[in-house]
Amino acid sequence: MRRYNEYEQENRELRKRKRKQAMQRKILGFCVFTFLLGVLCGKIVFAKGPKEESEQVTAESIENFVELSNQEPDNPASEGISGNLLAAGEETSKEEAWKLTLVNKWNPMEEGYKPAVAEIENNYYFDARAVGYLQEMLAAGRREGLDFWVCSAYRTVEKQTDLFEDKVRRVTAETGLTGDAAREKAGTEVAFPGTSEHNLGLAVDIVARDYQILDEKQARTEEAQWLKENCWKYGFILRYPTDKTEETGIIFEPWHYRYVGEKAAKEIMERGICLEEYLDRVQ
Ligand SMILES: [Zn+2]
Repeated sequence: MRRYNEYEQENRELRKRKRKQAMQRKILGFCVFTFLLGVLCGKIVFAKGPKEESEQVTAESIENFVELSNQEPDNPASEGISGNLLAAGEETSKEEAWKLTLVNKWNPMEEGYKPAVAEIENNYYFDARAVGYLQEMLAAGRREGLDFWVCSAYRTVEKQTDLFEDKVRRVTAETGLTGDAAREKAGTEVAFPGTSEHNLGLAVDIVARDYQILDEKQARTEEAQWLKENCWKYGFILRYPTDKTEETGIIFEPWHYRYVGEKAAKEIMERGICLEEYLDRVQ
């Protein structure tokens, strides 16, 4: 009897020990799980945090580039070492700013701005600082058998004024509208002088030689498709995509390409955004 009781007691203690061990394992497991969860969350937060921050910094610095480019150095007191550093910084900003100048109906070009231009071909001209990239892009497509036709590039503000006034006259003849009403209607089809990217010297219209009509069907040509796919490699963007009419103020123009530099072009085309969105300047 005594032996049975001893056996029973040993058994109970064994079960008790086992329960205790099982409980310890559970607690340990829970601790490890909590620790791993903590590490994982930490990683996600760290991975997310700086990325958003860097995106913000990019957008802000671009805004600064553009704003800086419009400022004239007008403070002689800032000369000396810090003045030189400031000048160097502004120089770098200006270096980038010209590529990202925003011109649309809400942001007219700086009055009297005239870019230095160089000929592309067919008697068309482009900003001299970017004409090389445009020629490289055209040459690359042509090597693949595409037949591009450049049908517009740099236009002086005077030329834009002629085009616009012409349009106003036609609107009046066709609709009977006069004055501001006629000008407003004309403005929906021909950009008001100083608000066309063509006045800036950084825009070019490229079509297929065998389909030179400026309508949406242009997008179906092999030439337009190649340009849309490859333009960013040369620093160009499809400036007026089909789904950004509200942001750009311009209808889908599959032929109109704008030089913005390779860095901005890559991001804009990859993310499927427009220049207004890239610069955070949507109206
Ligand atoms: Zn155009």
